[in-house]
Amino acid sequence: MLRHGGSRDSIGLRADLDALHIQELSGVAHMSRNPGRMHACGHDGHTTMLLAAAKAMTARRKFDGTAYFIFQPAEENEGGGRVMVEEGLFDRFPVRAVFGMHNWPGIPEGTFAMRAGPLMGAYDIFEIVATGKGAHAALAYQGKDPMLFAAHAISALQTIVSRNLHPLDAGVVSVTQVHAGDTWNVIPEQLVLRGTVRTFKKDVQDLIERRMRTLVDGIAAMFEMAATVRYERRYPATVNSEIETLYAATAAAAIVGSDNVDTDPTPEMGSEDFAFMLQAKPGCYVWLGAGNGANTPNIHNPRYDFNDDVLAIGASYWVTLAEQQLPIRAGARGNEKQAAD
Ligand SMILES: [Zn+2]
Ligand SMILES: [Zn+2]
Repeated sequence: MLRHGGSRDSIGLRADLDALHIQELSGVAHMSRNPGRMHACGHDGHTTMLLAAAKAMTARRKFDGTAYFIFQPAEENEGGGRVMVEEGLFDRFPVRAVFGMHNWPGIPEGTFAMRAGPLMGAYDIFEIVATGKGAHAALAYQGKDPMLFAAHAISALQTIVSRNLHPLDAGVVSVTQVHAGDTWNVIPEQLVLRGTVRTFKKDVQDLIERRMRTLVDGIAAMFEMAATVRYERRYPATVNSEIETLYAATAAAAIVGSDNVDTDPTPEMGSEDFAFMLQAKPGCYVWLGAGNGANTPNIHNPRYDFNDDVLAIGASYWVTLAEQQLPIRAGARGNEKQAAD
């Protein structure tokens, strides 16, 4: 927390902290020393930028009000953002608005992208268990083969997006795991399908879940077996509010120029648990351009390396955003030092 002066105005600035279960292959001198653990999403860079911003704001003392620095654990799978909100983050620190930032190798360094409305997708998981009747594979007529269920279900699930969604609505249904069978000549009794669903809108999410259950029930009935669906909504869509997106774009433009700020990028279906903070408070999540040529490894790639050239840009964005958003402190006028110093 950084409180200057007597204003009660306050904003929250959030960085995530965690690494991924990936064996790093980047080969850089500073690569991970922990086998199977890697900062493959650049959250180490996010934390560095927010710490640098805190240091700069303390030195500059240009605003009146409070900037809260939110260092959030467990972004990748465990929903640390949700837990922080549930444990009273904004009750203890009642911010007016909350802001987040992610390095984005898919857009060039020296640029920013953000948009009002959804920027990243909701993340759901599903598990379908089909239970047939095991049999000798040569005597298939005596069994109920769950393999057939899988073959039809995987195809049928792909009709939800193509045949049930409005063509201008977005959704992804991906079956990512098929588990059944142990040997050549046995029809297994049971089969498990797992996967993920991505959406931007709750009604689309509802539609996909409903159609998935209907298709699974129908296919199971067709092949005279039982099937269950476990459908779990993990992260909601990351939805930026209108006015805070304008504020974020204004701060970004002060750093890289308005020509380098894209306020209408194509959203991505990756997900982000900052979404829980945006459900609790208005705010904006931005992409910080980190691409350095067409072959820049993307986040979650074992050859990814955080682009250190964008550290100063990202830290300057935080400082500028806080100084633009919070009232100017008496006596701070006339200090022409720039945030990028
Ligand atoms: Zn990640
Ligand atoms: Zn990340």
